[in-house]
Amino acid sequence: MKPRLFTPGPTPVPEETLLELAKPVTYHRTAEQKAALNEVMEDLKYVFQTKNPVIVLTSSGTGGMEAAVSNVLAPGQKAILLTAGRWGERWRGVLKAFGANLVIVEQPYGSAVDPQLLKEALEKNPDTVAVYATLSETSTGVGHDIEAYGKIVAGTKALLCVDSISGLGAMVCKTDEWQIDINVSGSQKALMMPPGLAYVSVSDKAWKVIESNTATRSFYFDLKRYKAKIAENDTPFTPANTLIKAQRLSLKRIRAEGIENLWARHAKMAEATRAAITAMGLKLFAQRPNNALTVIVVPEGIDGSATLKALEKQYGYKLADGQDNLKGQIWRLSHMGWCDPFDVLGALSALELTLLKSGFKLEPGAGVAAFQKKLAS
Ligand SMILES: *Cc1c(COP(=O)(O)O)cnc(C)c1O
Repeated sequence: MKPRLFTPGPTPVPEETLLELAKPVTYHRTAEQKAALNEVMEDLKYVFQTKNPVIVLTSSGTGGMEAAVSNVLAPGQKAILLTAGRWGERWRGVLKAFGANLVIVEQPYGSAVDPQLLKEALEKNPDTVAVYATLSETSTGVGHDIEAYGKIVAGTKALLCVDSISGLGAMVCKTDEWQIDINVSGSQKALMMPPGLAYVSVSDKAWKVIESNTATRSFYFDLKRYKAKIAENDTPFTPANTLIKAQRLSLKRIRAEGIENLWARHAKMAEATRAAITAMGLKLFAQRPNNALTVIVVPEGIDGSATLKALEKQYGYKLADGQDNLKGQIWRLSHMGWCDPFDVLGALSALELTLLKSGFKLEPGAGVAAFQKKLAS
């Protein structure tokens, strides 16, 4: 059986990046390693669309989220949390752990947080130090209107901190133009890498807050330590240097394609996938779908978790189940990163076959045909 990974992280990795990871491990304080880190930081600026430095952390994405909280907020300081899914809840967990005074703006899973609600919350809470939001809410497939949030937050003292871990590289995200102060991403989603690195961009406005925060409760994630090393293309602690060299290659691929082309390709693939799902008689879960993944509502009478197990066992396609309360209720199909239309066509075809076998009424090829029609249009 050929394994085919369609989970919204980790995602498949191109062969040349995998081959880089097969090379012998090298020492990390060398000119060669510094050159690799420099290239990665420069290419990340391009992907983030920022002029500010992008800090490379050896951690999963959550480490970057933790840095965006522990460096910014002193205990008891006020933060607004926008949440409509499990990753919004991850922000909540981190914010609670660091003793933030939380103002919660919450919407049901599957919907997006209306920018108007943020506007009202900020007006009521002028002492807010930072707002925490999610670009691509991977648990529901929703994409949030970060551009609108940016316009609202920019007029205040507060910082806008965004989890773009699964969004960056799959959907339009313009860090500087949208006035995102701290943007957090990770290696294992649309950036075509295994897990292990987190990326954090920091605006001048955010550095002022970070540098005046005398109560930073972090050592490893103290961003000031990383900033001090950037000019030398170095890191304060041993970095995952083999991963950095591998990320260099996947970023080159993005550079070669061009960021606008990358965004357009993901948009097209997401649009075609949504058309396919609808043509199969299935429903989409996200009210404001993003381009990183498609989230499908499990139809009545079908065992959601059993279907995913059958898909993997019979055809090798690994999709993701819903998390927590949504387990068995939704299927999550990723089309971000190292993934092309023919990969997705295969997954749709396998899903059709699996559904047919479990008695779901469906015209064989309906989804595949709808996908191809969109692609050809
Ligand atoms: C995958 C993902 C994370 C993951 O964090 P890890 O620490 O890398 O597991 C966070 N936020 C979003 C939106 C994600 O999709």
